[in-house]
Amino acid sequence: MKSKIPVLTPKVSEWMTELMNNPCLLAKLIEEYGSPVNIHQTQPFIENAKKYQQVFWDLGLEHRIYFARKANKCTSFIEAAAQVNLGVDTASYNELKECLDAGMEADDLVVTAAIKTEKLIRLAIKTGVLIILDNSDECQIAQKVASELQISAKIGLRVSGFEYQGNRLYSRFGFDIRQVKNFLQENFGPTRAFNQLTYTGLHFHLNGYSTGARAAALNQCLLLSQELFELGFETSFIDIGGGFLMNYLQSKEEWEHFKVKLQSALKGEIEPITYQNDGLGYKLIEGAIHGDLSTYPYFNELYQEKFLVEILNTRFGNGSNVETARSLGIELRMEPGRSLLDQAGMTVARVNFRKKDLDGNWLIGLEMNMTQMQSSSADFLLDPFLIPMEETEEKVPVEVYFTGAYCLERDVLLKRRIPLMQLPQVGDLVVFVNTAGYMMHFFESEAHLFDLAANLFYIRNSPPEENYEFLEDKGALKDPSVSNYMLAKH
Ligand SMILES: *Cc1c(COP(=O)(O)O)cnc(C)c1O
Repeated sequence: MKSKIPVLTPKVSEWMTELMNNPCLLAKLIEEYGSPVNIHQTQPFIENAKKYQQVFWDLGLEHRIYFARKANKCTSFIEAAAQVNLGVDTASYNELKECLDAGMEADDLVVTAAIKTEKLIRLAIKTGVLIILDNSDECQIAQKVASELQISAKIGLRVSGFEYQGNRLYSRFGFDIRQVKNFLQENFGPTRAFNQLTYTGLHFHLNGYSTGARAAALNQCLLLSQELFELGFETSFIDIGGGFLMNYLQSKEEWEHFKVKLQSALKGEIEPITYQNDGLGYKLIEGAIHGDLSTYPYFNELYQEKFLVEILNTRFGNGSNVETARSLGIELRMEPGRSLLDQAGMTVARVNFRKKDLDGNWLIGLEMNMTQMQSSSADFLLDPFLIPMEETEEKVPVEVYFTGAYCLERDVLLKRRIPLMQLPQVGDLVVFVNTAGYMMHFFESEAHLFDLAANLFYIRNSPPEENYEFLEDKGALKDPSVSNYMLAKH
């Protein structure tokens, strides 16, 4: 489509296209489960996991991959993780409980919660699950609980404050890497305050998406582990956390063009391309653009397994991270969330109304709200797909904003003005692809007492045209008396 305003064409997997080519089926799902509905597949998740595993196998590294559970609420991904021998990184009592109830082994789990309640710590220690501790107060609680239970607790320490490019990387989490040695020496061991805690390894999770920073952090942890070994503390693993980039978009040109056009719009050189000329992080000060785009970097060339390889192969004075980890016999661990969910889910909503606002912009009201597709960054920069229910005779291209159901002026689902081939009709569907990682679940709320979206799993039978099958995610069923799955065959 030729459009004056920039487009951002998403990468779309075959199963999504298959469903979008069947408007009737999607309409039936909305009828049955309400709008919006989240549709998933576990196969892409499994393939993404295998690509990470292959990297470690190829490099001959001991490894363990944990799926960061918080990135999506569906229990089915826990089952998929277990299928390919992935562990799960849990960040709350309920997340941990659910994995244990699903039959996962303690060795396949880790607790990295930012706030660890005594209840969570007790469950982890009782069941023998590794806890990554962030500060001395947490050690205190763990020590108390472990003493009561008369078992030793397996713990790792989260570290931060790595040196990178002449600065130290700030984080509100973890122990200052420079103090770990003293802290262990003073508090750990049979006659010390935390004698019920057994130190087993180091952990970090960095903000941002720099491979250089991650490589440096890993290297500094490897060096620290050598020093700790000399003091009698054995580091069996180093966990490098999550934040592995993924690539959402098809074209670098579109991505670069978008950024240029957004800046022009802010300067008033062209019509706004975002709602009320939102700069998405760019600011216009005295005619010049300042600041940076504060969205996720949706287009990337170095992503997923390539991103991991880069971190592992980075060289330092003591050799590459791979060589050092191998020679020290340290297991490397990672906790990807978003990047494992690449191509694993999409969100479908129904058009409720069309109207023109005071400025003459088309607003398309969707039966969903902003929390059901919300990025932690300034916007979700992927073009959605319009699925018309009926063929219309003449197609007049339009540009629209999608608005949501919350009574807030700011419930605008995408900040960008979206070009479409035709004006949506009431009852048409809009599909947002690749929303499984954070987008659909992380911020979802029940204001106005709206129901949360149903979570379906598309079971791909062959040939698909004859037999579509969708299973509702078990975790989404609030009433446990309902049979495990509701089945909708079409
Ligand atoms: C959020 C989080 C992750 C996952 O991060 P992604 O960006 O989804 O890969 C992993 N580990 C910890 C400790 C986290 O907080």
